[in-house]
Amino acid sequence: MDYRNLRIAILGGGNVGANVADLLIAHRGELEARVGAGLEVVGVAVRDLAAPRTPAIPAELLTTDAASLVTAADIVVELIGGIEPARTLVLSALRSGADVITANKALLATHGDELFQEAAQVGAQLHYEAAVAAAIPIIRPLRESLAGDRVRRILGIVNGSTNFILDKMDAEGWSTEEAMRVARELGYLEADPTLDVEGYDAAQKAAILASLAFHTRVPLESVHREGITGITGEVVAAAKAAGYVVKLLAIAERVGEGDLEGVVARVHPALVPRDHPLAAVHGGNNAVFVEAEFAGPLMFYGAGAGGVQTASAVLGDIVSAARRHLAGGPGVAESTSATIPILPFEAVETRYQIALEVADVPGVLAQVAGVIAGHGVSIERALQSASGGADPDPTATLVIVTHRAREAALAATVAALAGSPAVRRVASVIRVEGL
Ligand code: NAP
Repeated sequence: MDYRNLRIAILGGGNVGANVADLLIAHRGELEARVGAGLEVVGVAVRDLAAPRTPAIPAELLTTDAASLVTAADIVVELIGGIEPARTLVLSALRSGADVITANKALLATHGDELFQEAAQVGAQLHYEAAVAAAIPIIRPLRESLAGDRVRRILGIVNGSTNFILDKMDAEGWSTEEAMRVARELGYLEADPTLDVEGYDAAQKAAILASLAFHTRVPLESVHREGITGITGEVVAAAKAAGYVVKLLAIAERVGEGDLEGVVARVHPALVPRDHPLAAVHGGNNAVFVEAEFAGPLMFYGAGAGGVQTASAVLGDIVSAARRHLAGGPGVAESTSATIPILPFEAVETRYQIALEVADVPGVLAQVAGVIAGHGVSIERALQSASGGADPDPTATLVIVTHRAREAALAATVAALAGSPAVRRVASVIRVEGL
């Protein structure tokens, strides 16, 4: 068949880039038939021409001149990662009329605005299906399938490394250190695990999901972030005994009503009931649970990392970009029509589970309940266990789960409990989500 030829430039020949190049070349005929155009890989930009690559990339495609490559292509696939030179190359590609595909969450979370504006100005399209949850289709469902609905809330397990660690602590009873060691050995964690365990990676993804779901630009700086470093084996075991599992969640939601409605995005560990679909997300997998007003709850689940898995989402974007090139006309601009105010984290409503060490004497529960009620927070359930033995000054552990209340009120409650003479120690505080 006499196809129009579309030139595809790939920037980066690493884990994802090498797989994209390999699959595009190996399945070229099939993909071309689906698109109705020729799909020619015109080059793969890398830093080191001699570095070994798996899968291998034909040597004649490799180049270190990314800047020239991007101006000679119809579709540019950015798989370098990080901010620069990725940002400059993406802008240059858009300006030269190419559609761009990226899997780069750091770039989108920090410079998304600039890139989407540039794309809209030149009428090109920026695709990023792989940027949030790798192989899991979530961008297109939010952008297209749910475009007629109103998303109320998104709860995501979007970082496979921390999910692996928390899952092993839960299922095998491993300590944090043991789980991190194995995660590192299996390649789930980088040598410097900060991005993952401190929640930075998940926060970037939360900003992207929130912007898309609420048609509002949600800047990365507005995402509240807590990592999993405070989650000990004891916290996980206690959660398990109480029917919960600890997950690092990226949450984006509408809060308030009418004129007071706003959007809050946050990342923190939380207790999830064992019968919630997110509790069944094991190992390094990811899942995004979407609560939409008309569609109801939806769950998107699968591999949140991996070179070939991520390449699948990138190839889907390449097919979309190629079809748009053939159809002509401008790309669909990113929707920021709603401009809902971004509210501070304190505006969120959540529940706390608070574990307290208290003197094991009559009246303590009433004192603690008084402190909590004094902050307008009500208790859903309280469980007291005595220290036992012949301790002359016995300590009891009191585990309280609150009803839903404002984050600000809950945080003030914990501060007051920590200063109360009835409380010896606030042993742990963790939010409860998914109820
Ligand atoms: P990677 O293995 O580190 O590969 C990066 C590639 O970029 C390498 O081939 C490197 O060249 C090349 N590169 C770096 N600086 C360059 C420069 N200045 N000019 C030209 N090439 C340059 O990274 P990756 O795992 O494939 O990830 C790529 C992107 O996909 C990132 O944005 C990442 O966040 C995203 N992503 C990855 C996954 C995953 O599972 N890996 C999942 C979802 C999203 P050399 O090989 O010569 O050093």
